[in-house]
Formats: sequence, structure tokens, C-alpha cells
Amino acid sequence: MYRSMADNLTHPQRHLCMSHNKGKNTSPEMLIRRLVYSLGYRYRLHKKNLPGCPDLVFLSRKKVIFVNGCYWHRHKCKKGYSMPKTKHAFWQSKFSKTIKRDKRNYKDLKKLGWKMLVVWECQLKNIETVKAKIVNFLE
Ligand SMILES: [Zn+2]
Repeated sequence: MYRSMADNLTHPQRHLCMSHNKGKNTSPEMLIRRLVYSLGYRYRLHKKNLPGCPDLVFLSRKKVIFVNGCYWHRHKCKKGYSMPKTKHAFWQSKFSKTIKRDKRNYKDLKKLGWKMLVVWECQLKNIETVKAKIVNFLE
């Protein structure tokens, strides 16, 4: 498992956070972590006391980055629109719960004075654009 120097949460804390957020420590997130780290920014991971348990937390800037999988978080792209072939209603309700939860978390973060950026999995194909976006967001 990749661990950055900024990864200063203890193991039990990480576990607690991850148990509520399936799909953490997936490769798109690793890519973004490495990118952000290489740009010279330092961050914390999955702050469990923040709404939505953001993937990267920039405490002094009061900013967070979410790295969202297009499928699970229903991005408005090809992957986000695709549906499982069976148990359609089940997945539909599961997905709409995820969307609702995301929206609520983003709203709560905003209320607490945090600024947030969502990086979508499909955007990683164009890493230079993502890089510019992140720098623009953090500065
Ligand atoms: Zn997408």
C-alpha cells in the first residue's frame, strides 16, 4: 500500500474512515495523491470528522479534494450512466442514495467554510488538465 509522508492518520483511524467509504485507496486516488504530493502540496487523508470523509484534506487552506469513481458516484459521463444488467431497481436506489449523500456532504462542507474540488476518474485520462485544475484550486 502506498503511504505518503503526509499520511499521518493512524491505522485504526484509517480503517474506521474507510469502513464507511468503500472504494477508498483505489488507484485513481493514488494517482491524485502522488500528483498533489509531487506538486509540493501536503495534505491529510480521509479526515473522518469532515462530512464525506474527503480523500485529501488541506487543513491550512481549508480545502478538500474528492476523487470520485464515475460509476459509483454517477458522473455525467459514459461510465456514470451505465447500469448493471440485473437488479435494476436495487442499483437505481443504491445509486440515488449515493448521489444524495454526496450532495449533502458537499453542502455541509460548504457550510463549515470548506472549499472543495471533485476530480472524476475519467478526467485522469488528461492528467495535465487535472494538474492545472488542482493548482488553480489550491492557490
Ligand atoms: Zn466520468
